[in-house]
Amino acid sequence: MRFSGKTAVVTGGASGIGLAAARRLHAEGAAVVIADLNDGLGEAAARELGDGRCVYQHTDVSAWEDIQALMQTAKEAFGGLDILFNNAGIGSFAATPDLAVEDWRRVIDIDLTAVFLGCKAAIPLMRERGGGAIVNTASASGMAADFSFAAYNAAKAGVINYTRAVAIDHARENIRCNAVSPGPVDTPIIAGVNQMPGVREIWDERVPMGRFARPEEIAAVVLFLASDEASYLTGANIPVDGGLTAHTGQPN
Ligand code: NAD
Repeated sequence: MRFSGKTAVVTGGASGIGLAAARRLHAEGAAVVIADLNDGLGEAAARELGDGRCVYQHTDVSAWEDIQALMQTAKEAFGGLDILFNNAGIGSFAATPDLAVEDWRRVIDIDLTAVFLGCKAAIPLMRERGGGAIVNTASASGMAADFSFAAYNAAKAGVINYTRAVAIDHARENIRCNAVSPGPVDTPIIAGVNQMPGVREIWDERVPMGRFARPEEIAAVVLFLASDEASYLTGANIPVDGGLTAHTGQPN
Protein backbone atom coordinates (compact mmCIF):
# COMPACT_ATOMS: atom_id res chain seq x y z
CA MET A 1 0.00 0.00 0.00
CA ARG A 2 2.61 2.53 -1.14
CA PHE A 3 -0.05 5.16 -1.84
CA SER A 4 -2.30 5.01 1.24
CA GLY A 5 -3.66 8.46 2.02
CA LYS A 6 -2.45 9.89 -1.30
CA THR A 7 -4.53 11.38 -4.09
CA ALA A 8 -3.63 10.89 -7.75
CA VAL A 9 -4.95 12.43 -10.95
CA VAL A 10 -4.50 10.27 -14.07
CA THR A 11 -5.19 11.84 -17.46
CA GLY A 12 -6.09 9.48 -20.28
CA GLY A 13 -7.05 7.17 -17.44
CA ALA A 14 -9.98 5.52 -19.21
CA SER A 15 -7.83 3.28 -21.40
CA GLY A 16 -4.45 1.69 -21.98
CA ILE A 17 -1.47 2.86 -19.92
CA GLY A 18 -3.51 5.37 -17.90
CA LEU A 19 -6.11 2.78 -16.93
CA ALA A 20 -3.40 0.30 -15.93
CA ALA A 21 -1.77 3.00 -13.75
CA ALA A 22 -5.12 4.06 -12.24
CA ARG A 23 -5.91 0.44 -11.32
CA ARG A 24 -2.54 -0.07 -9.64
CA LEU A 25 -2.54 3.28 -7.83
CA HIS A 26 -6.00 2.43 -6.48
CA ALA A 27 -4.96 -1.12 -5.55
CA GLU A 28 -2.03 0.31 -3.60
CA GLY A 29 -4.22 2.66 -1.58
CA ALA A 30 -4.52 5.93 -3.55
CA ALA A 31 -7.69 7.89 -4.18
CA VAL A 32 -7.78 8.36 -7.95
CA VAL A 33 -9.38 10.95 -10.22
CA ILE A 34 -9.58 9.59 -13.75
CA ALA A 35 -9.68 12.28 -16.45
CA ASP A 36 -10.55 11.49 -20.04
CA LEU A 37 -12.73 12.43 -23.01
CA ASN A 38 -14.15 8.93 -23.32
CA ASP A 39 -17.03 9.06 -20.83
CA GLY A 40 -18.20 5.47 -21.44
CA LEU A 41 -14.80 3.96 -20.62
CA GLY A 42 -14.04 6.52 -17.90
CA GLU A 43 -17.27 5.88 -16.03
CA ALA A 44 -16.78 2.13 -16.38
CA ALA A 45 -13.30 2.46 -14.86
CA ALA A 46 -14.65 4.51 -11.95
CA ARG A 47 -17.36 1.87 -11.37
CA GLU A 48 -14.76 -0.89 -11.47
CA LEU A 49 -12.69 0.87 -8.79
CA GLY A 50 -15.87 2.07 -7.08
CA ASP A 51 -15.28 2.00 -3.37
CA GLY A 52 -15.43 5.75 -2.82
CA ARG A 53 -11.74 6.18 -3.74
CA CYS A 54 -12.21 6.78 -7.47
CA VAL A 55 -14.08 9.37 -9.50
CA TYR A 56 -14.20 10.02 -13.21
CA GLN A 57 -14.21 13.53 -14.64
CA HIS A 58 -14.82 14.41 -18.28
CA THR A 59 -11.77 16.47 -19.22
CA ASP A 60 -10.21 17.78 -22.39
CA VAL A 61 -6.60 18.01 -21.25
CA SER A 62 -5.89 20.74 -23.78
CA ALA A 63 -8.51 23.05 -22.20
CA TRP A 64 -7.24 25.14 -19.27
CA GLU A 65 -10.73 25.45 -17.72
CA ASP A 66 -11.13 21.65 -17.78
CA ILE A 67 -7.74 21.15 -16.12
CA GLN A 68 -8.53 23.70 -13.41
CA ALA A 69 -11.87 21.99 -12.77
CA LEU A 70 -10.09 18.62 -12.64
CA MET A 71 -7.68 19.72 -9.91
CA GLN A 72 -10.57 21.32 -8.03
CA THR A 73 -12.31 17.94 -8.06
CA ALA A 74 -9.22 16.27 -6.58
CA LYS A 75 -9.25 18.87 -3.81
CA GLU A 76 -12.98 18.74 -3.11
CA ALA A 77 -13.37 14.96 -3.35
CA PHE A 78 -10.13 13.86 -1.70
CA GLY A 79 -8.64 16.91 0.07
CA GLY A 80 -5.71 17.74 -2.22
CA LEU A 81 -3.26 16.32 -4.72
CA ASP A 82 -0.05 14.29 -4.32
CA ILE A 83 0.45 12.60 -7.69
CA LEU A 84 -0.22 13.75 -11.25
CA PHE A 85 0.16 11.33 -14.15
CA ASN A 86 0.04 13.48 -17.31
CA ASN A 87 -0.63 10.68 -19.76
CA ALA A 88 -3.41 11.48 -22.27
CA GLY A 89 -2.13 11.60 -25.82
CA ILE A 90 -2.89 11.30 -29.51
CA GLY A 91 -0.88 10.73 -32.69
CA SER A 92 -1.12 12.12 -36.21
CA PHE A 93 0.47 10.50 -39.23
CA ALA A 94 2.02 12.79 -41.84
CA ALA A 95 5.36 14.15 -42.96
CA THR A 96 5.66 17.93 -42.89
CA PRO A 97 4.26 19.03 -46.30
CA ASP A 98 1.17 16.87 -45.80
CA LEU A 99 0.62 17.70 -42.14
CA ALA A 100 -2.33 20.07 -41.79
CA VAL A 101 -1.59 23.08 -39.61
CA GLU A 102 -4.61 22.26 -37.43
CA ASP A 103 -3.37 18.67 -36.94
CA TRP A 104 0.08 19.95 -35.88
CA ARG A 105 -1.58 22.30 -33.39
CA ARG A 106 -3.91 19.59 -32.06
CA VAL A 107 -1.03 17.19 -31.40
CA ILE A 108 1.09 19.88 -29.74
CA ASP A 109 -1.93 21.00 -27.68
CA ILE A 110 -2.88 17.55 -26.42
CA ASP A 111 0.56 15.92 -26.16
CA LEU A 112 2.66 18.87 -24.95
CA THR A 113 0.66 21.95 -23.89
CA ALA A 114 -1.65 19.77 -21.80
CA VAL A 115 1.35 18.55 -19.80
CA PHE A 116 2.18 22.18 -19.01
CA LEU A 117 -1.46 22.89 -18.08
CA GLY A 118 -1.54 19.86 -15.78
CA CYS A 119 1.67 20.92 -14.01
CA LYS A 120 0.54 24.54 -13.79
CA ALA A 121 -2.67 23.57 -12.01
CA ALA A 122 -1.18 20.77 -9.90
CA ILE A 123 1.92 22.44 -8.45
CA PRO A 124 0.02 24.90 -6.20
CA LEU A 125 -1.96 21.96 -4.74
CA MET A 126 1.23 19.95 -4.23
CA ARG A 127 2.79 22.92 -2.43
CA GLU A 128 -0.14 22.83 0.01
CA ARG A 129 0.74 19.17 0.72
CA GLY A 130 4.46 19.91 1.16
CA GLY A 131 5.44 18.10 -2.04
CA GLY A 132 4.30 15.75 -4.75
CA ALA A 133 5.26 13.61 -7.72
CA ILE A 134 4.52 14.28 -11.39
CA VAL A 135 5.02 11.64 -14.07
CA ASN A 136 4.66 12.59 -17.73
CA THR A 137 4.16 10.10 -20.55
CA ALA A 138 6.67 10.93 -23.27
CA SER A 139 7.66 8.26 -25.80
CA ALA A 140 10.54 6.51 -27.53
CA SER A 141 9.23 8.72 -30.35
CA GLY A 142 10.40 11.72 -28.33
CA MET A 143 13.94 10.34 -28.13
CA ALA A 144 14.33 9.66 -31.87
CA ALA A 145 12.09 10.22 -34.90
CA ASP A 146 9.66 7.98 -36.78
CA PHE A 147 8.78 8.24 -40.46
CA SER A 148 5.74 10.51 -41.02
CA PHE A 149 5.14 11.23 -37.34
CA ALA A 150 6.60 14.75 -37.17
CA ALA A 151 4.15 16.47 -34.83
CA TYR A 152 4.18 13.61 -32.33
CA ASN A 153 8.00 13.44 -32.44
CA ALA A 154 8.21 17.16 -31.69
CA ALA A 155 5.60 17.08 -28.93
CA LYS A 156 7.06 14.09 -27.10
CA ALA A 157 10.62 15.48 -27.29
CA GLY A 158 9.15 18.65 -25.77
CA VAL A 159 7.64 16.62 -22.93
CA ILE A 160 11.06 15.18 -22.07
CA ASN A 161 12.77 18.56 -21.77
CA TYR A 162 9.77 20.25 -20.14
CA THR A 163 9.93 17.48 -17.52
CA ARG A 164 13.49 18.55 -16.72
CA ALA A 165 12.43 22.21 -16.49
CA VAL A 166 9.69 21.42 -13.95
CA ALA A 167 12.05 19.13 -12.05
CA ILE A 168 14.69 21.77 -11.45
CA ASP A 169 12.27 24.65 -10.84
CA HIS A 170 10.50 22.72 -8.06
CA ALA A 171 13.22 20.44 -6.70
CA ARG A 172 13.53 22.43 -3.46
CA GLU A 173 9.78 22.26 -2.90
CA ASN A 174 9.88 18.47 -2.71
CA ILE A 175 7.99 18.22 -6.00
CA ARG A 176 9.59 15.65 -8.29
CA CYS A 177 8.90 15.42 -12.02
CA ASN A 178 9.95 12.52 -14.25
CA ALA A 179 9.00 11.09 -17.64
CA VAL A 180 8.49 7.59 -18.98
CA SER A 181 9.14 6.86 -22.63
CA PRO A 182 7.32 3.74 -23.77
CA GLY A 183 8.16 1.89 -26.97
CA PRO A 184 5.22 0.11 -28.64
CA VAL A 185 2.52 -0.87 -26.15
CA ASP A 186 -0.59 -2.93 -26.84
CA THR A 187 -3.27 -0.24 -26.48
CA PRO A 188 -6.00 1.22 -28.73
CA ILE A 189 -3.81 4.21 -29.74
CA ILE A 190 -1.59 1.95 -31.80
CA ALA A 191 -4.23 -0.56 -32.91
CA GLY A 192 -4.77 1.13 -36.30
CA VAL A 193 -1.06 0.89 -37.15
CA ASN A 194 -0.98 -2.71 -36.03
CA GLN A 195 -3.78 -3.63 -38.40
CA MET A 196 -1.72 -2.56 -41.43
CA PRO A 197 -0.44 -5.78 -43.05
CA GLY A 198 3.00 -6.84 -41.78
CA VAL A 199 3.52 -3.83 -39.50
CA ARG A 200 3.15 -5.71 -36.23
CA GLU A 201 5.74 -8.27 -37.35
CA ILE A 202 8.22 -5.52 -38.30
CA TRP A 203 7.82 -3.92 -34.88
CA ASP A 204 8.28 -7.22 -33.08
CA GLU A 205 11.45 -7.78 -35.10
CA ARG A 206 12.85 -4.31 -34.33
CA VAL A 207 12.25 -4.31 -30.59
CA PRO A 208 15.21 -6.19 -29.08
CA MET A 209 12.88 -7.96 -26.63
CA GLY A 210 10.83 -9.10 -29.64
CA ARG A 211 7.41 -7.93 -28.49
CA PHE A 212 5.16 -5.02 -27.54
CA ALA A 213 4.79 -4.00 -23.89
CA ARG A 214 1.66 -4.67 -21.90
CA PRO A 215 0.21 -1.45 -20.40
CA GLU A 216 0.90 -2.87 -16.92
CA GLU A 217 4.63 -2.94 -17.69
CA ILE A 218 4.62 0.82 -18.25
CA ALA A 219 2.36 1.41 -15.22
CA ALA A 220 4.84 -0.43 -12.97
CA VAL A 221 7.54 2.13 -13.77
CA VAL A 222 5.09 5.03 -13.42
CA LEU A 223 4.17 3.81 -9.93
CA PHE A 224 7.82 3.54 -8.95
CA LEU A 225 8.43 7.13 -10.12
CA ALA A 226 5.33 8.33 -8.24
CA SER A 227 6.32 6.53 -5.04
CA ASP A 228 8.62 7.50 -2.19
CA GLU A 229 11.04 4.79 -3.38
CA ALA A 230 12.03 7.31 -6.09
CA SER A 231 12.57 10.07 -3.51
CA TYR A 232 15.91 11.26 -4.99
CA LEU A 233 14.90 10.85 -8.64
CA THR A 234 13.79 13.93 -10.55
CA GLY A 235 14.22 15.23 -14.09
CA ALA A 236 14.74 11.72 -15.47
CA ASN A 237 13.31 10.21 -18.62
CA ILE A 238 13.07 6.43 -18.34
CA PRO A 239 12.72 4.49 -21.59
CA VAL A 240 10.43 1.49 -21.03
CA ASP A 241 10.82 0.09 -24.49
CA GLY A 242 12.20 -3.46 -24.52
CA GLY A 243 15.59 -2.08 -25.64
CA LEU A 244 14.26 -0.17 -28.68
CA THR A 245 16.15 3.09 -28.04
CA ALA A 246 19.28 1.21 -26.90
CA HIS A 247 19.70 -0.23 -30.40
CA THR A 248 21.65 1.51 -33.20
CA GLY A 249 19.53 -0.16 -35.85
CA GLN A 250 22.40 -2.39 -36.97
CA PRO A 251 20.93 -5.61 -38.41
CA ASN A 252 21.54 -8.80 -36.41
P1 NAD B 1 -5.00 4.83 -25.31
O1 NAD B 1 -5.63 5.26 -26.58
O2 NAD B 1 -5.37 3.51 -24.73
O3 NAD B 1 -5.21 5.94 -24.18
C1 NAD B 1 -5.16 7.31 -24.45
C2 NAD B 1 -6.30 7.96 -23.68
O4 NAD B 1 -6.16 9.39 -23.81
C3 NAD B 1 -7.68 7.58 -24.23
O5 NAD B 1 -8.51 7.11 -23.20
C4 NAD B 1 -8.20 8.88 -24.83
O6 NAD B 1 -9.60 9.01 -24.75
C5 NAD B 1 -7.47 9.91 -23.97
N1 NAD B 1 -7.41 11.23 -24.59
C6 NAD B 1 -7.07 11.54 -25.87
N2 NAD B 1 -7.18 12.87 -26.07
C7 NAD B 1 -7.59 13.41 -24.89
C8 NAD B 1 -7.88 14.72 -24.46
N3 NAD B 1 -7.79 15.77 -25.30
N4 NAD B 1 -8.29 14.91 -23.19
C9 NAD B 1 -8.42 13.85 -22.34
N5 NAD B 1 -8.15 12.58 -22.69
C10 NAD B 1 -7.74 12.36 -23.95
O7 NAD B 1 -3.44 4.86 -25.59
P2 NAD B 1 -2.17 4.67 -24.62
O8 NAD B 1 -1.18 3.91 -25.41
O9 NAD B 1 -2.55 4.18 -23.28
O10 NAD B 1 -1.66 6.19 -24.54
C11 NAD B 1 -1.26 6.79 -23.33
C12 NAD B 1 -0.04 7.64 -23.58
O11 NAD B 1 1.05 6.79 -23.94
C13 NAD B 1 -0.17 8.66 -24.72
O12 NAD B 1 0.43 9.89 -24.30
C14 NAD B 1 0.65 8.04 -25.83
O13 NAD B 1 1.16 9.02 -26.71
C15 NAD B 1 1.74 7.36 -25.04
N6 NAD B 1 2.48 6.32 -25.74
C16 NAD B 1 1.83 5.20 -26.22
C17 NAD B 1 2.56 4.24 -26.89
C18 NAD B 1 1.91 3.01 -27.45
O14 NAD B 1 2.54 2.31 -28.25
N7 NAD B 1 0.69 2.67 -27.08
C19 NAD B 1 3.95 4.39 -27.03
C20 NAD B 1 4.57 5.52 -26.51
C21 NAD B 1 3.82 6.48 -25.86
